[in-house]
Amino acid sequence: MPSEFDLIRRHFDRAPRHTELAVGDDAALMRARPGMQLAVSTDMLVAGTHFLADTDAEDLGWKTLAVNVSDLAAMGAEPRWALLAVALPAADEGWIAAFARGLFACAEAFGIDLVGGDTTRGPLTLSVTIIGELPAGAAITRAGGRAGDDLWVSGQPGRAALGLAALRGEARLHEAARAECVAALQRPQPRVALGLALRGLASAMLDVSDGLLGDLGHILERSGVGAVIDVAALPLPALLATGADPALARRCLLAGGDDYELLFAAPTGARDTLAALSARLTLPLHRIGTLVADTGALQLRETNGTLTPAACSGYDHFA
Ligand code: ADP
Ligand code: MG
Repeated sequence: MPSEFDLIRRHFDRAPRHTELAVGDDAALMRARPGMQLAVSTDMLVAGTHFLADTDAEDLGWKTLAVNVSDLAAMGAEPRWALLAVALPAADEGWIAAFARGLFACAEAFGIDLVGGDTTRGPLTLSVTIIGELPAGAAITRAGGRAGDDLWVSGQPGRAALGLAALRGEARLHEAARAECVAALQRPQPRVALGLALRGLASAMLDVSDGLLGDLGHILERSGVGAVIDVAALPLPALLATGADPALARRCLLAGGDDYELLFAAPTGARDTLAALSARLTLPLHRIGTLVADTGALQLRETNGTLTPAACSGYDHFA
């Protein structure tokens, strides 16, 4: 049975790229670059709540870090350092090695040093604290949205929820589409390049972790505005092309979690710049609605033009 320290040394201690002192001492030492502000965030993943207990360990390693990277992307920050706190039911070294492979693949993809953490025995729980940098004052918060701003979402929200439905046997999808949706669920791609490019362009932003409408509610609340979503502008066709039941596809798009796309508001004057950015990043950006003055109110403009009120409901662990 390896000791806690053997496990840390073998699996979680890798030479850092830009950190003065990383894993192995009582605390890590790092330095923000001149003029930069720190952005810090934590996210916890609990077996059975945030992932299926039989999830592939390497995928889980990727996702554990990726969901945290996404939070920094949503601020317009560049991820730099992470700490990992894990509770493991047993020292299954094969599992831990695969988990670490996935985690470090994500760390390398986004230029992150793992600088510390904590390792303990307990029900499988994974928690990352991530630290990033951005020029002082450049953060894109949830609070800057203004009535009249366009509302945009990146990529293809709804795929991860469809992937989960497929894994649970609740949706039957075409084979290639099923693989894509499951990959969206298990290997989310945080939109860091987009987040950085949106500094100075987006007025408000967050990453969609709990569902498009539910997370939109946070922007509406913090910005003191309402929104009208244009159903015809939603990226629904690609979800319908998976073979999913249309009602399920719409539900996954509007309320499915785990996509980690960016949802943001921007003044109408930014449309051309955003179209060019979308082309440069080869990442679709969909203009799906408008912020309005009516605080907190959310309406859907259906394809026939009628306006229907909608609830800002996403996934709530305590509801
Ligand atoms: P302490 O007893 O001082 O809290 P630990 O024994 O918990 O120290 O950890 C030893 C070192 O290993 C510390 O530098 C800590 O940050 C690091 N560490 C522990 N667990 C992990 C982990 N899962 N991933 C990365 N670093 C870890
Ligand atoms: Mg400790």
